[in-house]
Amino acid sequence: MDMNEFEIIQRYFTRSVAPEGGVVLGVGDDCALLAPEPGMQLAISSDMLVAGQHFFPDTDPYGLGHKALAVNLSDLAACGARPLAFTLALALPNIDPAWLQRFAAGMLQLADTHHCPLVGGDTTRGPLTISITVLGHVPTGQMLTRSGARPDEDIWVSGTLGDACLALQALQGRITLAPQVLERARVRLERPTPRVALGQALRGIASAALDVSDGLLGDINHLLHASGVGADIAWTHASQLIAASALWTGDRAGFSRDFSLALHRHCILAGGDDYELVFSAPVAQRAAVQEAARCCDVQVSRIGSTRAALGLRLWDAHNQPIDTAAYASFDHFSSAQSSAQ
Ligand code: ADP
Ligand code: MG
Repeated sequence: MDMNEFEIIQRYFTRSVAPEGGVVLGVGDDCALLAPEPGMQLAISSDMLVAGQHFFPDTDPYGLGHKALAVNLSDLAACGARPLAFTLALALPNIDPAWLQRFAAGMLQLADTHHCPLVGGDTTRGPLTISITVLGHVPTGQMLTRSGARPDEDIWVSGTLGDACLALQALQGRITLAPQVLERARVRLERPTPRVALGQALRGIASAALDVSDGLLGDINHLLHASGVGADIAWTHASQLIAASALWTGDRAGFSRDFSLALHRHCILAGGDDYELVFSAPVAQRAAVQEAARCCDVQVSRIGSTRAALGLRLWDAHNQPIDTAAYASFDHFSSAQSSAQ
């Protein structure tokens, strides 16, 4: 089928936008027009996904559409912002209607869930690249930042960590997973759930927050640097965050045999792509944190605490330090990193 740029936009990316919700004008004009509510500030974030670098070129387009938007919504979640709208810049190597149809469906389904309409973008020919900019709003002065943590606060993580990394390792052929385990872990890699409601519920409770996209320890380090504090993390608590153990149907022995301590640690501490929230909160807010999480139907776990002395220390069950050097964060410009991470 032969379609030009405008037909693609019209067919796959243009939908009427509900008049409520702050969007005055969506796709079709030179600019979209938004009307943020009084008393709100705009929170803006962009994320780009490049074929071969961030995903395998043959990735299911539905999941890809979902993930491209999910990683952006996750940034809003980390800031405690409510989604308002997003734009999509898309480079396509060729026009494949079936691919476009599934890609748009995955993306717009998630957009509907979060009442976050697509209001504009750009479409061009080029190596498959998906760049989304998301706009959210947050009551003035209430955005959660990375820099608000103080010493002697709790460090919390939402949900579970490590399954996305586990699935990636299996898809790259480094480990073998039972088919039903891979299938479930793969959902976390390909269709992450941004913690949008939790982020908003944590406004006024958490002191600092960010989302885990590159690996837990590396991302905690970003928060510590921004806040000018250090932290102690307990491996006994962090180790519980792995969801994969629940995937091994009943056979704990089989789980431990296939799942070495080294892999377990790598998946939790360094595995990226989970899009959970890590946040600090004063000890006095413990009940409030639990209540916020309960309201959002998300589990939260306390894995350590901040302290005045700089640096991140990880402790094992016998109170011995664990070397964290091996769990540095993912860095796209580091020579050691391979593609399609
Ligand atoms: P211009 O050349 O003025 O930048 P374009 O011709 O690129 O406008 O786009 C026409 C309209 O379609 C604009 O409203 C633009 O925001 C929108 N648009 C282009 N590509 C996309 C896309 N991938 N998703 C959503 N809207 C898009
Ligand atoms: Mg244009």
